[in-house]
Amino acid sequence: MRATGLHADVVVVNSRVWQTSCTLVRSGEEAFCIDSPVYPDELELLPAVAGQAGFTVVGLLATHADWDHVLGRYAFPEAPLGCGESSAARLAGEPGDAARELRGFDEEHYVERPGPLSLPPPQALPVPGVCEVGARELALHPANGHTPDGMAIWIDWAGILVCGDYISPLEIPMISDGGSVSAYLATLDRLEPLVEGAAWVVPGHGAPVEAVRAAALLREDRAYLEALRDRGPEAPLPLARRTATQKQIHAENAARVTS
Ligand SMILES: [Zn+2]
Repeated sequence: MRATGLHADVVVVNSRVWQTSCTLVRSGEEAFCIDSPVYPDELELLPAVAGQAGFTVVGLLATHADWDHVLGRYAFPEAPLGCGESSAARLAGEPGDAARELRGFDEEHYVERPGPLSLPPPQALPVPGVCEVGARELALHPANGHTPDGMAIWIDWAGILVCGDYISPLEIPMISDGGSVSAYLATLDRLEPLVEGAAWVVPGHGAPVEAVRAAALLREDRAYLEALRDRGPEAPLPLARRTATQKQIHAENAARVTS
């Protein structure tokens, strides 16, 4: 697990698997934990990482409801979870799915946890909207298309955009169940001005990216999605994202758009 201090009030941790990002953001005496690392030892270490930085985590946020982003309660069992209305609806509509998928991952990789995932009903946050932390506000923007739900979180005073599973240096755009190319493209259009005004972008998977590189990744993602929409399986992958795993994601994307 790698921890990166991006600002006096923002620390980002990346999991060893899929480099899933977890962002700790503070204002005064309060801090939130956005998304989560995946492995049990990483989750166990997270309170110490927060404590060393002087962050008191009082709440959890999730950019979207995919299971690998909602594990924060293993680290902060008392903290309530907030997420966008669309994610709250998704969690309510598929009860037990996140816990079941986590169990599937753990069984496949022989991972042992202290217990099953407990996910009480989250607090549904209006998006677009704001969420107060300490004396500051986080701005919440809709970010769907990868999945049917999702929000991006703009940390105004730090110039940092936590965008969920978009603009990743590692992963091509992934159209999951309930996601769509048109919604994904609309999300990229909404995120673009935020990226241009940011110092850093924190993607759902991969280390934090400086704004200029993030803007380039966003343009690559848009070009890929437009080609996927128009040419299906023939769409070329972004040059630096052509591993076997990315080709597999592309094949699944193409099957979805042509079906
Ligand atoms: Zn993800």
